[in-house]
Amino acid sequence: MRLAKRIGKLPPYLFVEISRKIAEKRAKGQDVVSFAIGDPDIPTPAHIIARLQEATLDPANHRYPESDGLPELRQAIAEWYEKRFGLAFDPNKEVLPLIGSKEGIGHIALCFIDPGDVALVPDPGYPVYSVGTMFAGGEVIFLPLNEQNDFLPDLEQVPPEIAQRAKLLWLNYPNNPTAAIAGLDFFEKAVAFAKKYDLAVCHDGPYSEVAFDGYQPVSFLQAPGAREVGVEFHSLSKSYNMTGWRIGMVVGNATMVDALMRVKSNLDSGIPQAIQLAAIAALRGPQDCIAEHNTTYQRRRDRLVEVLQKLGLRVNKPLASLYVWAGIPQGYTSADFTAQLLEETNVVVTPGTGYGPSGEGYIRLSLTIPDDRLEEGLKRLASWRPFQK
Ligand SMILES: *Cc1c(COP(=O)(O)O)cnc(C)c1O
Repeated sequence: MRLAKRIGKLPPYLFVEISRKIAEKRAKGQDVVSFAIGDPDIPTPAHIIARLQEATLDPANHRYPESDGLPELRQAIAEWYEKRFGLAFDPNKEVLPLIGSKEGIGHIALCFIDPGDVALVPDPGYPVYSVGTMFAGGEVIFLPLNEQNDFLPDLEQVPPEIAQRAKLLWLNYPNNPTAAIAGLDFFEKAVAFAKKYDLAVCHDGPYSEVAFDGYQPVSFLQAPGAREVGVEFHSLSKSYNMTGWRIGMVVGNATMVDALMRVKSNLDSGIPQAIQLAAIAALRGPQDCIAEHNTTYQRRRDRLVEVLQKLGLRVNKPLASLYVWAGIPQGYTSADFTAQLLEETNVVVTPGTGYGPSGEGYIRLSLTIPDDRLEEGLKRLASWRPFQK
């Protein structure tokens, strides 16, 4: 048999590689501490699970769901956006539930990208933006994020001939992996750029509820004119510790939402209904779990940043997201640093280059690690050879 070229073009999925190495070590009986994956260690809140359990007993939820989700879920999403960001959306035209936001992020390329078309993608960035583009036959042009530009793409630096060819612009704040945040002023610039070059904006915002020190992230859709040019992807994964249940949403421009709905209705049959009902319970129920989780993450952030700074790593204390983005000592590539750290201490961190070439010189550490494991990991890091003078 002959596989399609696109399979050969796929980069190894970073986390699959890392999981394989961890599994190998654990099979040998070694104790591995992992800061690698952004997957909340805290369980889904009990009231959400209770609704899910109850919903599984109802035979109505045993059948095919609708591709565009339960009307009540679309309504609950619209209400949540209204309550959280003061924005009103038509639940039947501007809201679409997704099988986890990753699914929609991957598929929306099929709505915009024909072979040879260009998508502008942040570098470093969540790998699905580029892979979705590649699957559709498109070309990725990276927009570098770095310390000089506060990890915000400098849209004025995009050459006009490239901007004219581009059909999609990907953005993601609070950002994975850099933990950077964006204000409305930046989103306003993105809207103006999109209007000038007639491109669509996809803002990926799964970390809008994971924030510290009283900071409240804004929505891209709060920028005036945003819904004329773009959508926002969102997820219950990080807000409500629901990564395993696979449910997210896209909200905003009706033409974009409709195009994605048409693609999806040809590929999937929606989200299991019991999970949709659990999501409604999450969105409409008590929201105190968010602040509680953030208190835990903030405490871990403080410990992590304190130790990394003491070791001389370049770190800014993040105001949001589940990550700490740290500059590594000179003389190492990200890949060498992470490989040696794993080999010599059984501590796993992700190399910045796993998210794109501009991640060189950085590592990412996740806050989704229980406190005792975090302390064990920090202890090993602090006593590791490169940090002994
Ligand atoms: C976790 C994450 C997602 C995906 O979330 P799901 O809804 O679980 O698919 C999307 N984008 C970024 C940047 C993420 O970190």
